[in-house]
Amino acid sequence: MRRTAWIFLAAILLPSLALAWLAVRSARDQQVILEHQQAIISQDVTDALAKKVRDQLDDTRSAFVQRTQKLLEKSSAPSALARNFNRELHNSWNLAEVGFAVGLNGTIYSPESRQGTVAKTFRSENDRFLSNRENVPVFAQNSQQTFSLDLNNAGNPTGVNSQVGNTFPLGAQSQASNQIAQASKQPTAVVNPQTQMAQVERQVVPQKSFAPRQSALSNTLPAESDFRKVIGTDTSGVLARFLENKLRLMVWYRPPNAGSLVFGAQITQQELIQSLAPLLLSPDLHRGADAAGSNSAKSAYCLALLDDRGKPVALSRAGFTAEWKHPLVATEVGETLPHWEAALYLVDPQQINRSASTLQLTLGFVVLTLVAAILLGGWLMAADVRRQMTLAQQKTDFVGNVSHELKTPLTSIRMFADMLADGRVTEPDRQSKYLRIISAESARLTRLINNVLDFARLERGVSSAERGFCDLVAVVQEVVDTCRPHLETIGVPLALEIKAQTLGIVGDRDALAQIVLNLLSNAEKYGDHEILVHVRQEKCASGFLGCVDVLDRGPGIPPKHREAIFKPFRRLHDSLASGVSGSGLGLTLARRMAQAHGGNVTCSARPGGGSCFTLAVPLSQAKSDED
Ligand code: ADP
Repeated sequence: MRRTAWIFLAAILLPSLALAWLAVRSARDQQVILEHQQAIISQDVTDALAKKVRDQLDDTRSAFVQRTQKLLEKSSAPSALARNFNRELHNSWNLAEVGFAVGLNGTIYSPESRQGTVAKTFRSENDRFLSNRENVPVFAQNSQQTFSLDLNNAGNPTGVNSQVGNTFPLGAQSQASNQIAQASKQPTAVVNPQTQMAQVERQVVPQKSFAPRQSALSNTLPAESDFRKVIGTDTSGVLARFLENKLRLMVWYRPPNAGSLVFGAQITQQELIQSLAPLLLSPDLHRGADAAGSNSAKSAYCLALLDDRGKPVALSRAGFTAEWKHPLVATEVGETLPHWEAALYLVDPQQINRSASTLQLTLGFVVLTLVAAILLGGWLMAADVRRQMTLAQQKTDFVGNVSHELKTPLTSIRMFADMLADGRVTEPDRQSKYLRIISAESARLTRLINNVLDFARLERGVSSAERGFCDLVAVVQEVVDTCRPHLETIGVPLALEIKAQTLGIVGDRDALAQIVLNLLSNAEKYGDHEILVHVRQEKCASGFLGCVDVLDRGPGIPPKHREAIFKPFRRLHDSLASGVSGSGLGLTLARRMAQAHGGNVTCSARPGGGSCFTLAVPLSQAKSDED
């Protein structure tokens, strides 16, 4: 039994548990891969949004160039327009906060400080820069080139810079990096030893970032320069400055036939944001984002444009709020809007975790159910093996018992027969006594052999019934008459009480006789030398029953064994140990034969001690009707 348990453990339970563990693990890995894929697709979406914003700013620059060209066409000379440029531009372009015109030699033609507070502030903020008297940190994107440090050469992987244009090396790189950090007023600055320029930390920290495209440090770097160096040989561009922690965005244009004149405009942030807001709703972005959240609802994310302080200025879902500095993914817009970010947030960030834990729970449940099923199967298997082993043991016992059963009567038959044959017994009384013993013992042998043969026949499903009409009373009478001489010899009184004249039955006479004989034989073996046989008729729901009770004064059968003793080979006491021999088949056969007649054999307690075995068989309808 223990071996079977080990085999079960090693061959079924342990491999199943290992498989279950692998399944749970692979589900977890799958979840991680899915999350990663979602983040990568989301990153593509924010990359695309950042590019759209850059393109929009480029369009703004082109719009400014066209607007200026129109004004130039209308005006008598570029220098005439230069003096009135602020007013003229203001009237024709709503994105312009201030229009300015400067000569690359340092002369500022427009705006004039007296043109209002905005113009006055502009002049005080930008005079020294525009007239090339001061180098300031600027972020610039010219129509041809990106104006910033050559970060690629400096060993810093900047996807943004390499995407939008060439870098523009400056002589101003050696300026102290601290100044820049202060000017851009970012919280912390790290000095890149190779460029001696400060790289600032990004305002947002995406939950997922993909090195080397993404890092905690900003990819956009200012360069120290005056206006003339920014312009260089280009014709138009965008430049950005941080002044008092506020972004100033400018576009500029140098008309080919206007000498050293440069026209420019400071963009109204409010208007700019309004022009950028529709980009967040563009359908191609949302197709990408939907792919990212393929299992979630269509509106399970929000795109946002964050300004340089990490505050949202435009959203794809009105009213959405989140911890703005921790989007799922984010991409920096680039030099044209330094430190601005295109970010993607999940509306329900817990959803991923929830669906992961639902998956884990489902899988756990399935695994537990399977393990339970395996254990149950194992238990059933073990029970079956145990049953088979018990049966095998009983069969072995049976062989031992039957051999013993055969040997005992044979020994006495031989002994008494030898004595008679040798002529050693001369008294007629003793002679007839020994002959009776020989006869009884051979009857016992016959009974035993019949039992074994009948059982084998029943097991094979062969019916031995030779059916005919018979009288149960007569059958019992006959069996009792046969047994009585032997029982009297051994001092066992046998009383017969008959409470019915005839009990007509359609059945096998020999089988009925064998049942009664088996019950009597048991009463003799186990009883205390007082047997009563009671024949009667009983009424039941379906008609009448013929009943034979065989009662003894033996030890009786405990109630819990009263059904078990009818099972094959089942014995309450081991014959070899108890001295009462038997095969464990007598009652099994008795019951099966009775059942073949539509009846049964049952066991109950005899009032006053001992047991009572009852054979009950339905009476033949015709006969009982006659009664
Ligand atoms: P066996 O050949 O062992 O007698 P049976 O099928 O006739 O086989 O009986 C099964 C068991 O039931 C016996 O071994 C015995 O323990 C018990 N039994 C049967 N009849 C009696 C009885 N009259 N009194 C006590 N125990 C009995």
